[in-house]
Amino acid sequence: MTAGADTATRDALASRLAFATVGLPTVGTVAAVVYSAFYGITVTDIALFLVMYLTTALGVEAGLHRYFTHRSFTATEPVKVFLGVAGSMAAQGPIVFWVANHRLHHAYADTERDPHSPRPLGPGLRGRIKGLWHGHMGWLFEVKTTDWSRHCRDWLSDRRVMKINQHYFTLVLLGILLPGLVGWLVTMSVHGLIGGVLWGGFARIFALDHATWAVNSIGHTWGAREFNTRDGSRNIGLLAPPTVGGSWHNNHHARPVLALTRRHWWQLDIAGDFIRILSRLRLVSNVKYVDTSTRR
Ligand SMILES: [Zn+2]
Ligand SMILES: [Zn+2]
Repeated sequence: MTAGADTATRDALASRLAFATVGLPTVGTVAAVVYSAFYGITVTDIALFLVMYLTTALGVEAGLHRYFTHRSFTATEPVKVFLGVAGSMAAQGPIVFWVANHRLHHAYADTERDPHSPRPLGPGLRGRIKGLWHGHMGWLFEVKTTDWSRHCRDWLSDRRVMKINQHYFTLVLLGILLPGLVGWLVTMSVHGLIGGVLWGGFARIFALDHATWAVNSIGHTWGAREFNTRDGSRNIGLLAPPTVGGSWHNNHHARPVLALTRRHWWQLDIAGDFIRILSRLRLVSNVKYVDTSTRR
């Protein structure tokens, strides 16, 4: 097979994977709502949703984003494994995929080569909607695999990280089955098992996916701009809780290497606080902090 054909096969595979990434959590969320309409929703279902959501959201924002992509701190091996596993359970793609695409996003933000810029694609409202759709999740179906290894070279030689990357699908499945198992053990009922799988698994993936993707679409379209960056990044306070601080996106684009996105005390940055706690426990080091007293 030629290199071109090989690339085309990989791109086609990635596009097919996008259908599963977008489709399965959507179907699962509809199933969760329908199931709960018939059998009710329990405290266990809600608790499993919240615990799994927080764990995987930290895996994405503190892990895949601030650690693996921007290397804004150094992690001990157990923390590295936790962040890699929790981030993979979010089902937003394997580590190499996530890191490479996000590095491409920063390198070419809101230009032709940005994998998920929501810039208008054509004239008028139609063009704006097309652009937003592309920035949110349409890009997943058009993703190009060519630059991945080039933009993730630093992790390719890390055997442990590559192992987590390799076991991506197993980890996604584990993230769905684990809340089911806990739901079953807590309630000792099949309803607990099904509720755990649907709410702690599928609906949780769906909710975090759209919160994360909203930073790419809405976070480059509407919101405040405190820093005059060359891209169209924005801060969206409303999305700060569900993105555990990832939505202070203009702050982030202004200084991508910093471990915290908070620039004012009132800007909620749960991932930043999590990194701070890990640092106090000496589980991470070399944290790149912002010094608010000298910054602004
Ligand atoms: Zn951005
Ligand atoms: Zn970033």
